[in-house]
Amino acid sequence: MMSKNTNEKAKLKKPNCPQCKINRFRVQNEKGDSVVVTVNKNFEVEPIHPEESLEGFDLTIVYCLGCSWKGSLKSLSTNH
Ligand SMILES: [Zn+2]
Repeated sequence: MMSKNTNEKAKLKKPNCPQCKINRFRVQNEKGDSVVVTVNKNFEVEPIHPEESLEGFDLTIVYCLGCSWKGSLKSLSTNH
């Protein structure tokens, strides 16, 4: 039998909203502008549209597009 540990990383899932389980969020800057983003398996915020810049945006708080949830990247759910 192979060690179970070798499979752990392949099973990593994208972090989702802990309430509605989607992977679409907004981030905001100081002016109140927002960009639609997703969060990858490494908990990195990525814009849905690659040409959009996240410069100046606060990436520590994400706002769910599917419900009223907002929070830090660490509080996203990978248990799904
Ligand atoms: Zn949600």
